[in-house]
Amino acid sequence: MSLRLSFYGGAGKVTGSNFLIAGDRGKILIDCGIEQGADFCEECVYEPFPYEVEKIDALVVTHAHLDHVGRIPKLVRDGFRGKIYLTPPSRDLAELILRDSVGILGEQAARRGVDPLYGEGEVDRTLSLIETLDYHIEKEVAPGLSVCLRNTGHILGSASVRVEEERGVAVALTGDIGNSPSPLLPDWEPVPDVDALVMESVYGDRLHPPHERRVELLRDTLARAIAKGGTILIPAFSLERTQLMLYELSNFFEAGDLSKIPVFLDSPLAIHVTKVYEKWGLTYFKPATENEMRRETSIFEFPFLKKTLSREESVAIEKTPGPKIIIAGAGMSHGGRIGRWEARYLPDPTTTLFIVGYQAPGTPGRRMVEGATSVHLNGTEIKIKAKVENLHGWSAHADRDELLTFAEQSLAGGRIKTIFTALGEPSAERFLAQRIHDYLGGNAIVPTFGQTWEITKESVRKI
Ligand SMILES: [Zn+2]
Repeated sequence: MSLRLSFYGGAGKVTGSNFLIAGDRGKILIDCGIEQGADFCEECVYEPFPYEVEKIDALVVTHAHLDHVGRIPKLVRDGFRGKIYLTPPSRDLAELILRDSVGILGEQAARRGVDPLYGEGEVDRTLSLIETLDYHIEKEVAPGLSVCLRNTGHILGSASVRVEEERGVAVALTGDIGNSPSPLLPDWEPVPDVDALVMESVYGDRLHPPHERRVELLRDTLARAIAKGGTILIPAFSLERTQLMLYELSNFFEAGDLSKIPVFLDSPLAIHVTKVYEKWGLTYFKPATENEMRRETSIFEFPFLKKTLSREESVAIEKTPGPKIIIAGAGMSHGGRIGRWEARYLPDPTTTLFIVGYQAPGTPGRRMVEGATSVHLNGTEIKIKAKVENLHGWSAHADRDELLTFAEQSLAGGRIKTIFTALGEPSAERFLAQRIHDYLGGNAIVPTFGQTWEITKESVRKI
């Protein structure tokens, strides 16, 4: 008559999401992500899992970001044979993200002279274990444990996971909570019907600028950059951010707000991810955007957009004179095709570099945001004469006030005894927990790695 919740990743850390929930008869994992620093090949990702992998009945995945799915093939290699549950769009996205990670992990392992964490074979076996589960469908996934997924508005297909045992004790984990309202996804749903809630806190201590302003700012900054006649570089994450940029560019061009110039989407991963967005948009976007999709062939297409899949097509971008826009990964300029374009165009004063996402310490993107006059890219020191524009507000995460609203609407159910603040830097987790306590009168706890908590209908206590 209890659930035991253990924190094996994402406690005091933004990445590496991994939680174990045990009932009286069954055990399930929520997420099995990789810890992401400047490099994946940190020793910790190779360590054995701190539980008996063969005894886990099922894995439920909140969404397809690598810090939530990146160690699943290792879990399978280590003996996991249960089913993996996630939403249909998450399945398609996870396949792309995991196949892409094989190449990245392989390159990094080769540089360090170690074996890669996993290869294509483990990814194939992982995909064969997947069973898709849609939002709002109750499903018994392990003996005595049923789950229900709800939209979190973070990326396409993202879900919170509510787990209930036979006598009705329930706990939920939010995964990542979106920066609602998004132009594409429906707003997140609160989770009031549980005894304990684990919620993300990436921006637990920070605010985003208002949504309306971010679109105006993007448009006006683009107009200035186009007027200079040079190249506009947008390093963007392939999943969600790139599609948001394409959607906004399409709107600007259609409304005549910007002069029409060539736009290159120079990332094979982002091109494939955009296809998944087009495939599922009619079912998983917010109603207004679904209607837009019914009227137009694609809300991510516009004249002068060229998707450069092959290396030859990519190299040929250079022949097109400015003004032009190049969108490519990686989002923090720490690899991918954007590095080649930065090396080529950053020394040119007519270039504008658009930063539209969080830049982790130690990445080239972070140094450029901080005003460096040169940056190390692909083994060469590159002088920066370009204008660097740092545009805030395009994060896929809720900010501190929206997280508090999520907590407030969930607490309104009158059932939650404890909220655990996880998946954030320790200071952000503490800040959010304090605000939940001070503003909402809720009991909030910052969990630490390896802790197990017992949840019953009466209490939540550490064991
Ligand atoms: Zn995420």
